[in-house]
Amino acid sequence: MIGMAEVKLINIWKRFGDVTAVKDLSLEIKDGEFLVLLGPSGCGKTTTLRMIAGLEEPTRGQIYIEDNLVADPEKGVFVPPKERDVAMVFQSYALYPHMTVYDNIAFPLKLRKVPKQEIDKRVREVAEMLGLTELLNRKPRELSGGQRQRVALGRAIIRRPKVFLMDEPLSNLDAKLRVKMRAELKKLQRQLGVTTIYVTHDQVEAMTMGDRIAVMNKGELQQVGTPDEVYYKPVNTFVAGFIGSPPMNFLDATITDDGFLDFGEFKLKLLQDQFEVLEEENMVGKEVIFGIRPEDVHDASFTHIDVPEENTVKATVDIIENLGGEKIVHLRRGNISFTAKFPKESKVREGDEVSVVFDMKKIHIFRKDTEKAIF
Ligand code: ATP
Repeated sequence: MIGMAEVKLINIWKRFGDVTAVKDLSLEIKDGEFLVLLGPSGCGKTTTLRMIAGLEEPTRGQIYIEDNLVADPEKGVFVPPKERDVAMVFQSYALYPHMTVYDNIAFPLKLRKVPKQEIDKRVREVAEMLGLTELLNRKPRELSGGQRQRVALGRAIIRRPKVFLMDEPLSNLDAKLRVKMRAELKKLQRQLGVTTIYVTHDQVEAMTMGDRIAVMNKGELQQVGTPDEVYYKPVNTFVAGFIGSPPMNFLDATITDDGFLDFGEFKLKLLQDQFEVLEEENMVGKEVIFGIRPEDVHDASFTHIDVPEENTVKATVDIIENLGGEKIVHLRRGNISFTAKFPKESKVREGDEVSVVFDMKKIHIFRKDTEKAIF
């Protein structure tokens, strides 16, 4: 069946003594999808993956793989890992040091007593796909980190599992290789069309690889969506602040009855439809959290966006980080600090007073109490 949920988690809880690692998590991963579980250290990503693999039993809830119930403590159901038809790739890829690349990749099939000829055919196929053909006779110690990681992947994909589970598989590689492997892994997953659940705390990895991203914090699912959805329509300040680099600016503001955001030091005029939404939500006169991404704060002398005069703000340049292609500019107005991303052509210097404009179409407003997005 096409389009069915390959993996389904229903109200999953996991407790370790006093620690609740996963709280009431429900999530459906579609057939062939690349889903990234993203969140800071300790948020429960690995525990979630281990429960899907069968390395950990949920405290409550149900897990389905294809249409099979594989875990449900209330019904006493727990299918062991090797019967789940999933393959897991970890950050520390344990290859057998005394075996050649060929034998490392062939190993899962040998265990399953697949005929020799069939093994040979599949090892060569996988090696070709991963660019390992020339290296089949080498031992792991004769390989680079990236090559070793590819062998580990080869060993996972040769079994043709229903689901790949990957726990930060690229985190031991240096930055350059990580970028290269990111693209390779994504291409490979598309080629194979295997449902993949990929754990990372790296938001760039999540944005570049995921068909969808599930953002977790403190054991709780915050938002699931495409990279664009979580980036442009974050549901709360956690998601808004976790995704994007440098992170979104958050400033406290009060909504005035004449349609401004009042920051104390300066004001910004809301767009008419934004003000109407805030009126409907009964937010006039109340404090909110204003959010804007650094790339939506522009150098007034370099922008083409049409902004009313009252939305030009003067600020002092504290520090400039020159990234070559662009400049990260740390600005201050009185006791309010925020960050902007300016083009490399921008002439601003540290200590300057500059005029900046906020692209009001791109702003976010969050409730002060719940930190949930109004828009
Ligand atoms: P990281 O990115 O650091 O691996 P994570 O998001 O994968 O973090 P988990 O490893 O799932 O987080 O851990 C979630 C919480 O559960 C943490 O507070 C952790 O300390 C706790 N935890 C995980 N495994 C166990 C265990 N076997 N016993 C007790 N507590 C555990």
